[in-house]
Amino acid sequence: MGLGNYATRQLAPAFKETHHCKLTGVVSGDPAKAKRWSDEHGFAPENIYDYENFDSIAKNPDIDVVYIVLPNSMHLEFIERSAAAGKHVICEKPMTVTAEESRRAIKACRAAGVQLSVGYRLHFDPNYRALMLARGTAPSGQVRYVQADMAFPMGNPNQWRLRKALAGGGAMYDVGVYCTQSARFFVGEEPIAVTAQEIKTDPVKFAEVDETIMFQLEFPGGATANCTTSYGFRSNSVHVDYQKGWGSLQPAHNYGPIQGVLHNQPLEPRKFSQQALQMDDFVRCIREGVESEVSGLEGLKDALVVDAVYQSIANGSRRTLIESV
Ligand code: NAD
Repeated sequence: MGLGNYATRQLAPAFKETHHCKLTGVVSGDPAKAKRWSDEHGFAPENIYDYENFDSIAKNPDIDVVYIVLPNSMHLEFIERSAAAGKHVICEKPMTVTAEESRRAIKACRAAGVQLSVGYRLHFDPNYRALMLARGTAPSGQVRYVQADMAFPMGNPNQWRLRKALAGGGAMYDVGVYCTQSARFFVGEEPIAVTAQEIKTDPVKFAEVDETIMFQLEFPGGATANCTTSYGFRSNSVHVDYQKGWGSLQPAHNYGPIQGVLHNQPLEPRKFSQQALQMDDFVRCIREGVESEVSGLEGLKDALVVDAVYQSIANGSRRTLIESV
């Protein structure tokens, strides 16, 4: 659903590398584009939907899962409509634009008896996972500190990512969630407090949304994280400090190969489709009736941090407590 950049350049090719998934239909507002997808992927033109007739997908047995790849503020509506149609859902990040919306999304899917997951592809990348798996084992021990950055210079000033009504917010929503993910994933706990700062160098381009946000997280076991996200410059890295030794990734959050070092040993740069692994794993979860590691709950946990980041900035407070799930 939504045949934009990510769907076209990443997900469509990834389908060809999956073992358990097949593209059997699309939802698009552009009939000519949808027809091209049907020709290229070999599904019936009857399996093309638009945003108005989408609900009739409920009657289509060819379609088990809807993958939502729309602007952020549209996610909740289509999670709820997909669930009402009895379809499992993968929703792109950020799952919703507030924690309250995430709770509604989870509730709708539970009520309909369908599974909800978020497009957190990095959980399926072995090099990204390696730094998490080292935690709690010799020689690493527990994680004491995580630094996570994800930033890129925003180009086209007319895109939806700069409109609050469609994007929800700026860099924090779009790529800041890679930092919340990394901090939570590598520490292995839920943060209890956040302190955040905002910097805006271009108030015209970023009139509606945030440009640069830095935030620090405090975890109950004593670990801390320091995160930076921006639409003003490029940065894409992770550093994890364990009780003994450290690991680092750069690039850390892109489509791969994710590269880095763990305890002075280089991680072998391996290139494969993170998205194919992510989609196949969701099929496994549906078949086995188990909750995905990247279920809607992960989306909610990140949304709670994002909400608290904005509260900390709005209140000018040094420390904002994060609501628990
Ligand atoms: P995009 O602008 O390239 O595509 C968005 C699609 O939504 C377009 O096909 C557009 O026609 C459609 N659309 C429907 N209604 C619209 C409306 N009212 N306004 C604007 N577009 C509308 O965006 P994208 O980069 O593909 O991002 C889509 C989603 O995927 C976002 O939530 C984004 O955060 C996420 N994403 C995830 C990753 C990842 O690595 N997991 C990477 C890129 C994007």
